Amino acid sequence: MKVYQCKYCGVTLQSEGFPLSGGCPKNGTHAWLELCSDCLTVPKEDYSPYQCSKCGTLVYSRHIPYGAICPAGGIYSWNRLI
Ligand SMILES: [Zn+2]
Ligand SMILES: [Zn+2]
Repeated sequence: MKVYQCKYCGVTLQSEGFPLSGGCPKNGTHAWLELCSDCLTVPKEDYSPYQCSKCGTLVYSRHIPYGAICPAGGIYSWNRLI
């Protein structure tokens, strides 16, 4: 599973394919950016939680997320929580 985040409203979504873009509260259409390619928005065994210290985004991933543009500005600052 991949996790996508909208660069406008910051919502995250897990999806195998590219998500639909409608319904963004900030921009009308979401602008999805891929955060990671083997990850989830909910906890699962063998997946580590990573949280961005700037925007608070939390994903469960097998590797550090690679999303480039943090909704809080600049690049993400990922911390592995356990
Ligand atoms: Zn959005
Ligand atoms: Zn962030």
